[in-house]
Amino acid sequence: MSHSRQQPVCSAHAKPRQLLVLGSTGSIGVNTLDVAARHPDKFQVFGLVAGSNIARLREQVLQFRPRCIVVCNAQAFQQWDAQGMTQALQNEGVPPFEVLQQADLPAVCALSEIDCVMAAIVGSAGLVPTLAAIQAGKTVFLANKESLVLAGRFMLQAAQRSGACLMPVDSEHNAIYQCLPASFQAGEYQAQGIRRLVLTASGGPFNRMPLGELKSVTPEQAVAHPNWVMGKKISVDSATMANKSLELFEAYWLFGCPAHSLDVLIHPQSIVHSMVEYLDGSVLAQMGMPDMRTPIAHVMGFPQRMESGSPRLDLTQLGALEFEAPDLQRFPMLGLAFEALKQPSVLAPVFNAANEEAVQAFLAGKMGYLDIYRTVQNAMDSFAGATVQCLESAFALDAQVRQHARTHLHAKGGASLC
Ligand code: NAD
Ligand code: MG
Repeated sequence: MSHSRQQPVCSAHAKPRQLLVLGSTGSIGVNTLDVAARHPDKFQVFGLVAGSNIARLREQVLQFRPRCIVVCNAQAFQQWDAQGMTQALQNEGVPPFEVLQQADLPAVCALSEIDCVMAAIVGSAGLVPTLAAIQAGKTVFLANKESLVLAGRFMLQAAQRSGACLMPVDSEHNAIYQCLPASFQAGEYQAQGIRRLVLTASGGPFNRMPLGELKSVTPEQAVAHPNWVMGKKISVDSATMANKSLELFEAYWLFGCPAHSLDVLIHPQSIVHSMVEYLDGSVLAQMGMPDMRTPIAHVMGFPQRMESGSPRLDLTQLGALEFEAPDLQRFPMLGLAFEALKQPSVLAPVFNAANEEAVQAFLAGKMGYLDIYRTVQNAMDSFAGATVQCLESAFALDAQVRQHARTHLHAKGGASLC
């Protein structure tokens, strides 16, 4: 397993690099396109991939004029066709482009014209295309942490075989990447004098809420993140700390980090994005405004630096920067994550699949906030003895856990336990 410190193949590019954006209509996708639009000399948008938001996809096609788009949701694909969107766009002067569907996605990711791929589809749906891009040896800007959680071992093996370069977009992992020695290779903890990787967490909207009130939290409250503007699913994950849990798994795979060297600190201001502690007592941290365009621009420009559009950090305008240890009673998902790190190939995917099902049910009003934790715990207890030998068995486990989680919700008749 190697952590990709090699430079992206096209770093000293004379021509603009051809960029494919998976999940272009989402929060990361939109930010990626915002950065790309600031550097038309460096990036050309080759392709856009979205789930069902065809209205936003249409605007993006108008602005970026890609060579192809993929509409993954079957109903949305039909709507695009039925509404004559392609012709309408061409009438507005957009050059001809291909409109493809989900089945075409792996082949699109492997197209030889593409240099780099932003992997920003949400959830485990991101795994197949991200893996296809890795297998094709692309430079992959990895936002879709769930794919790493589900199949970290296989993704890293594929990257080693193909020479693909994986660059972490998630702000914490990007911060760690920036604070690690340039010669760092995954697993080289002793040799590089590293003591700990510390992931920071904002604590989300409920860090100060009385514990007794958590049971009646609504989806609207849970998606209102104090510092970051994000998609709904990841916002709920921030509130429960499932997001930090997935990030622990992500760090485990990405940096080959032993579980006992991983730590989490709550830092409500979200200015220090994560830290690396060395044996000599030095702690290197990366700071910046909470704006995903910073890590996005870092990976896109690497090894050069380029403008991201993020407001500048003015330390004189900030109050105190606070840090505190997370309370595992308030954030029991984090306790489950440290438990899962004892058997990460199995329990991390179990955690992820159960969490995705539970968050969906919570957002749909089918269960309460605290049931998210209960669903994940139940799945971890039920699948502790499972094994994952290959990618197919990882998919099979994912499907089984989802089915189990849905049955568990169903068994409760959709009512909240709280
Ligand atoms: P989002 O919900 O805003 O956007 C998701 C995108 O994926 C949309 O374009 C949607 O159309 C597409 N999509 C959804 N289901 C799909 C499917 N089945 N097939 C194809 N496309 C599909 O999510 P986001 O906040 O942009 O997050 C994207 C990824 O980045 C997630 O894995 C998340 O964990 C990660 N991430 C996000 C942030 C953030 O600040 N938003 C930060 C770090 C990491
Ligand atoms: Mg993050």
